[in-house]
Amino acid sequence: MALLMENAGLALSGTVVGALLNHAPELAALGEAAHAAPYKAPPKAPVLAVYPPHTLAGDHAEVVVPTGVVGLHIGASLAIVIGQTACRVPRSQALAHVAGYTTALDIHQPLASHYRPAVRQRARDGFCPMGPAVVPASAVPQPDALAVQVWVDGTLVQATDTAQRLRDVAQLIADVSDFMTLQPGDVLLLGASADAPLAQAGQGVRVQIEGLPALHCQLVPEGHSRARPECAPLITHAPVTARVAYGGALHTATPHPQGLQLDDGRVLAETQVQWLPPFDVGTIIALGLNYADHVKELSKELTVTSQDEPLVFFKTGSSVIGHRGHMRRPAGVAFMHYECELAVVIGRTAHRVRAADALAHVAGYTVCNDYAVRDYLENWYRPNLRVKNRDGGTVLGPWLVAASAVADPHSLALRTLVNGQVTQQGSTSKLINNVPALIEYLSSFMTLQPGDVILTGTPEGVVNVNAGDEVITEIDGIGRLVNTIASDADFGRQPTQP
Ligand code: CA
Repeated sequence: MALLMENAGLALSGTVVGALLNHAPELAALGEAAHAAPYKAPPKAPVLAVYPPHTLAGDHAEVVVPTGVVGLHIGASLAIVIGQTACRVPRSQALAHVAGYTTALDIHQPLASHYRPAVRQRARDGFCPMGPAVVPASAVPQPDALAVQVWVDGTLVQATDTAQRLRDVAQLIADVSDFMTLQPGDVLLLGASADAPLAQAGQGVRVQIEGLPALHCQLVPEGHSRARPECAPLITHAPVTARVAYGGALHTATPHPQGLQLDDGRVLAETQVQWLPPFDVGTIIALGLNYADHVKELSKELTVTSQDEPLVFFKTGSSVIGHRGHMRRPAGVAFMHYECELAVVIGRTAHRVRAADALAHVAGYTVCNDYAVRDYLENWYRPNLRVKNRDGGTVLGPWLVAASAVADPHSLALRTLVNGQVTQQGSTSKLINNVPALIEYLSSFMTLQPGDVILTGTPEGVVNVNAGDEVITEIDGIGRLVNTIASDADFGRQPTQP
């Protein structure tokens, strides 16, 4: 990505979100299947995938074709680079928030279904090459009518364009910024056209979007690529640490009987400081349905497919807030709930780590409250970002507890209190996929880096919460995380359209 940033004179944030099934002919090709199980109805909100930093690569990157996979689909997409903070931007003003455009590839293994996020098939190291340069928006007056060509080994294999999107560039920005704030340097992918061509190991790919410089990549077999560099480990300087803002400066802090103690020795009450997430948050990996009792709780509305693989989805940094923050409840929704979860913070680069060695890659643990608005649940890439990736919907903290200070991460009691009443109780002993299993699974297809965090899922007992409610998610030995629900009016926002 470094080259791309230099060429563009614009720093990309590393947050990349892409639209799937956004080409009208692709959705149309599903026909009646879009109305049948497991989908039951065509998608209403944009179907979105997150492309975390480990998936990103520059021009001329090598893309590894996993052993046993017939080939990789090359989805050529216009990439929209945000230039101005976009929060609930109306369609009419959306294009003013675009800095420029570049080319991205949504590369993925063949997929059988759009029901669950295809994380293992799509979010592999280097599967989202981008670049080579950002062309200013002023030089791309009609982003919704650009010719797109995909060439494999010098042969034109797909000639398409950026038209016929269910959501064009402006509408995509409007619909995504309705629930997640986009920052300068964030990237939205308009999405590939139907019938993304397949390419094999050994082949070279060139993608040309009209008016943009071509993007190239080379598909290589497993074992022929260079290993990713290891990043500096995440080291904690005390068994229990927090990060707070106080008196106009950032501090690390440790627990104190009266609240907390800053690194300079001052002792403060919890309410005197602004709490930040207790570590630099990297990729946020969330588990769905990882407690048997919670699966049972949802069984009425679930279309159960294969339970062989963990249900994984990503959240973006835009959703993260700290201890004692506020989460907005959109007006007019019927069911928004908290989820108390053990959050596992990666401390050392992990690639293809076996379960037996996995815990050595953990820096520590914190508490997460992973909110969801169930009204927006649909059966496409479930749970969709509109449900799970809302501003303020990932509460982390207050403390990062070093792994060395946690005797057994699989014997921790966890609970949620709403206005002082216990509404959710469980134990990490009931995890379906435990921490080593999750690290082995995830690191089999993606490189985990220090600061990446795994939200391990929630037990049964999720209930609706309303504006004004105080929600406390706590895990014995890890922390007690406080959050307050706020209304649209508290945020100065108009009610969301259904
Ligand atoms: Ca969750």
